[in-house]
Amino acid sequence: MGSTSSPCHVAVLAFPFGTHAAPLYSLASALASTVDDSGVIFSFFTSTRSASSLPPVPRIKIFSVSDGTPPGHVAVHEPPHLEVGRFMSKVPTNFTDALDASVTDSGGIDVTCLISDAFLSFGGAIAKKLNVPWVAVWTGGPCSLSAHIHTDLLRRKNLSDEDDLGFITGLSGLRIKDLPDGVVVGDLTQGFPKLLHDMALALPDADVVVSNTFQGLDPDLDSDFGSKFKMYYPVGPLSLLNPVQAVSEDRFGCIKWLEQQKPHSVVYVSFGTVVSLPGTELAELAHGLVSSGVHFIWSLKDSFREFLPDGFLDRTKDQGIVAAWVPQAEVLAHKSTGAFVTHCGWNSVLESITGGVPLVCRPVLGDQPVNARVVTKVWKVGVGFEGKGIESGELVKCLRKVIRGEEGEGMRERMRRLKEMALGAVGVEGNSVRNLKAVMEMVVGKSGR
Ligand code: UDP
Repeated sequence: MGSTSSPCHVAVLAFPFGTHAAPLYSLASALASTVDDSGVIFSFFTSTRSASSLPPVPRIKIFSVSDGTPPGHVAVHEPPHLEVGRFMSKVPTNFTDALDASVTDSGGIDVTCLISDAFLSFGGAIAKKLNVPWVAVWTGGPCSLSAHIHTDLLRRKNLSDEDDLGFITGLSGLRIKDLPDGVVVGDLTQGFPKLLHDMALALPDADVVVSNTFQGLDPDLDSDFGSKFKMYYPVGPLSLLNPVQAVSEDRFGCIKWLEQQKPHSVVYVSFGTVVSLPGTELAELAHGLVSSGVHFIWSLKDSFREFLPDGFLDRTKDQGIVAAWVPQAEVLAHKSTGAFVTHCGWNSVLESITGGVPLVCRPVLGDQPVNARVVTKVWKVGVGFEGKGIESGELVKCLRKVIRGEEGEGMRERMRRLKEMALGAVGVEGNSVRNLKAVMEMVVGKSGR
């Protein structure tokens, strides 16, 4: 973009939990990289804790907002709704105070566009008050977004757990029981159900809705959202559009170790940054890995090691690596990785697609069951467990199917096609790249530039 007259100040409001801030920061970085003058500045608002994992990016200044954590509070294995509740008790004042601070810091450049995580639907009201456009960013998968915007419809119908959602465009193959808590039942006046319902009501007013996916992955939803929102742009996978990647730590030497393994022979295990499986299930998983004999990399926080069976680490030191943090995207992109045991967080699903790796799904909460259902029954690029949790014998069967079996070959082939679509979207003239440019025009254009 060329030189500009009056300065633009793009404010980006992050939801500072789970892996929400990272894709939003990738979007801000990708947008900032399209600007070649100093007349556009970006202010990024998130909690101090979430900011600590974001790399510095030219033209983006990070401002800290309170997440409500009392000084000295140490949370080990704390349920996610407690910390989110503390944070929600501080909004929107924590953000509006920080917005004021960013204007002062910039020497008085008023905010000219507000981008927020779609979860923070009060972003719409702030933007209205400032008389600037509101860009809402959905960082999860398209199917769960559709479920949220159809909450009222789903509640009006008297549906049971096994009912198929084929009556909603793009959701055929999903069942009521796959939906996130709070969509079909639950009190819409508080907690997460309220946050998501408020979002569903607010999104049609957003000037643009941006989503971390790529055109063609869920084609029916692309057109449905196109008709429901003023403007809808899939711009993913955002991690691939971001020109400034965080340097992934590989303290445990995962990549070097993968170099010594056979193609598609290794299973990578991770359940993301939020959920914790019960200790008994972690022990089942450990037993299953040993019985399968499959080489593995397991991302497991140190505080969960106590659940591993006695002697597990010793017995498996030639079979695998247990690491507190793994450079996941790189591991999934490595040719030796053949399966991913996952909770099906959306970033993990996208990274598996861009790595071309079939999934073994153990969803826990939120949008994870929807994502798992899409992976196993719609795209058919993964398998799940019959019961709710992981059982060692079943894990062995799943790994046999995915890594060695004919079924796994089919999944890998279908994954290869999804991967090509994803890489095409972020390549030269790809649709995500085009959509990103359109978002940038909107971000600087409507604000008088
Ligand atoms: N991740 C990682 N190394 C780990 C564990 C997780 O890099 O050892 C990253 C992973 O690549 C992904 C994110 O953490 O980008 C997890 O995001 P996801 O949406 O799958 O789950 P969430 O953390 O939100 O539950």
